[in-house]
Amino acid sequence: MSKKRLLTGDRPTGKLHLGHYVGSIENRVRLQDEYECYFLIADLHLLTTKNQRENIDEIRVLAIDMVTDYLACGVDPLKSAIYLQSAMHAVYEMNLIFEMLVTVPRLSRLPSLKDMAKAAHLNEMPFGLLGYPVLQAADILMPRAHLVPVGKDNEAHVEITREIARRFNHLYGETLPIPDVMIGDVPSLVGTDGQAKMSKSLGNAILLSDDTKTVEKKVHAMYTDPKRIRADIPGTVEGNPVFIYHDAFNPNKSEVEDLKARYKEGRVGDVEVKDKLSKAINNFLDPIRERRSDIEADKGLAEQVLYEGTIRTTEIANETLAMMKKAMGLTGLHNKISRKARARQRKIEKAGTN
Ligand code: ATP
Ligand code: MG
Repeated sequence: MSKKRLLTGDRPTGKLHLGHYVGSIENRVRLQDEYECYFLIADLHLLTTKNQRENIDEIRVLAIDMVTDYLACGVDPLKSAIYLQSAMHAVYEMNLIFEMLVTVPRLSRLPSLKDMAKAAHLNEMPFGLLGYPVLQAADILMPRAHLVPVGKDNEAHVEITREIARRFNHLYGETLPIPDVMIGDVPSLVGTDGQAKMSKSLGNAILLSDDTKTVEKKVHAMYTDPKRIRADIPGTVEGNPVFIYHDAFNPNKSEVEDLKARYKEGRVGDVEVKDKLSKAINNFLDPIRERRSDIEADKGLAEQVLYEGTIRTTEIANETLAMMKKAMGLTGLHNKISRKARARQRKIEKAGTN
């Protein structure tokens, strides 16, 4: 029996960080053998909030950085396809078909879209940003994915995909699988500022590509319990970002338990807690760094991986679109028109050569 399929991806807005790892990448790497995997660089989604010419010009470099990040984390391009969303023509068509299967009030209720508009300093909601989850549905349903590993903030969007797929099947017959969402071990990793989720755009991220010294600096500047102005004041562990990171990245559980106990009793300084944390994060990042330096030494590798993954994905994208159009009854007239158009083109060419 053929494998089930998995799809997920990221917008090329910057380099990947620890939040991406625990929210989604860990699951991607782990499931590569079990599923046929598709990872997209969501550059069309970038246009929903950043469509200036200079934003578009940056995509090339950011996309390659992202492919490098994936490979460094252990995504194997022989098993999994990494592709560029904007090169997938079928997705534009699917997006339009799916726009008819969801209502404006349903999309308007999503808090994530309002947050994104606010973060991008947009006073009014662009039509395309409202359609962000619809385009996501096109991505997910394009390879007829069964599983979507994402962070918590994307859970509601995958729910929209499920609704769209159900609606499609109801109107036109069983065509699309209803995909399941899979949330990572840490559904939403807080940023180093302790205020919001770690995000590429908020400057509160530890990047998977940060070097040892940068990690030390970022960890030492981290927000902790603000009540603890001295080491002998008992502190709060719950919700404290330093301990959230210890839980996520320090495999030495007895060290973490000891630090927590002493923190609660006011018997440990922030410096010791943070020193141990930066060591743990650096140990965690070391194998990723090692793979990264090999990948970067192989000039043009990341671009080649993206190119081949995109070509590979095109096949299934066209197949799904054809299945959808057939189910909808759109193909008959369509095929006739394209046949006639091709015949006319041939006639013109022939006349030109005579
Ligand atoms: P941006 O600031 O541009 O929105 P981002 O850092 O939020 O960037 P996205 O590209 O929006 O990253 O998200 C990519 C994937 O990573 C999604 O599945 C998202 O849920 C997950 N993710 C992002 N940030 C976190 C986080 N802090 N914790 C857990 N998962 C996360
Ligand atoms: Mg985001």
